[in-house]
Amino acid sequence: MTQAATAALIVAAGQGVRTGGTLPKQFAMLAGKPMIAHSYAALERHPAIGRVIVAIGDGQDAALTAALGDVERVRGGATRRLSVLAGLEALAGAKPERILIHDAARPFLSDAVIDRLLGALDTNDGVVPALPVADTLARGDGALGEIVPRDGLHRIQTPQAFRFNVIFDAHRGWTGEEPTDDAQMLRKAGGRVALVEGDMMLEKITYPADFGAAERRHEVGMRVRSATGFDVHRLVEGEQLWLGGVLIPHDKGLSGHSDADVALHAITDALLGTIAEGDIGTHFPPTDPQWRGADSAQFLEHAASLVARRGGVIDFIDLALICEAPKIGPHRAAMRDRIAALLRLAPGQISVKATTTERLGFAGRGEGIAAQAIATIRIQGE
Ligand code: MG
Repeated sequence: MTQAATAALIVAAGQGVRTGGTLPKQFAMLAGKPMIAHSYAALERHPAIGRVIVAIGDGQDAALTAALGDVERVRGGATRRLSVLAGLEALAGAKPERILIHDAARPFLSDAVIDRLLGALDTNDGVVPALPVADTLARGDGALGEIVPRDGLHRIQTPQAFRFNVIFDAHRGWTGEEPTDDAQMLRKAGGRVALVEGDMMLEKITYPADFGAAERRHEVGMRVRSATGFDVHRLVEGEQLWLGGVLIPHDKGLSGHSDADVALHAITDALLGTIAEGDIGTHFPPTDPQWRGADSAQFLEHAASLVARRGGVIDFIDLALICEAPKIGPHRAAMRDRIAALLRLAPGQISVKATTTERLGFAGRGEGIAAQAIATIRIQGE
């Protein structure tokens, strides 16, 4: 099955605001990024999924753009059901075969859950992730009432996966009360919905205290990784000197296939190292003419996007430049700000240092500049 056959819809049209905040909850910060960015990244990076669309509420365009950039979106409706319907209508023209419908309020979506859903969808019209109920369930109104037997009871999560036409028909033919999810609609239309194992990490964020609890659950699974990068380029006359993404006035510049920014190359290699994704030459071969004179900022941004796609969060970059000249001090703040902007980090997460080699070796003789970087990230443990 091709990627185009599978689409995903994230329902993010709620207007409820996190306590103390002004943005709707799905755009509030959670574990380092807007809540919706977590599930969007999980769906967008999954190799089986070709398209992700977000259903937002009135007045939420700017919040979505701030959170995710210029991603595909559709205006939702007054209820969750109508928001899903708007998303399905927007997708129908492309005739996807399968659709995952997900709530932005369940941010920590793993590849394993997506794989289970899509696997079971081969032989079912609908599949939902579910967890058995472990707690005793009881009615109550200030005092304990009747116990509800929990045998066979499940908590139903999202994403829910469907054959596209089947769920689209169920939506278009819906006449009942407002459902809380899409699987109920398929079931009422006579379809069978299979259960696959859900995930504790998919707990819905409903109450203010859920933010803290979700962050703690997420943190427990995060592991710190550090990796190094190193690069050298030759200093020659007649070239511009790009260093740390900044053009520096100097009588010589660095020579290389791209703009030869050793600092950005070392950081790029360090970031690629944290996710064991080879090195800069793997992704941007020097034999490829399209990288001739290229702005190395794009190499760095690509490495950062690969880290983000794996669910990684960059914590810190430490860079050391090794050269006799030019003096780095006067340009340190500009480099820090530029690298921070490229990585969407705060300047305080970037350290730029410099050293000479006491006139020893190639750097000491002014024949070239070397750069060494260490990147530290956090990523869900493997
Ligand atoms: Mg290089």
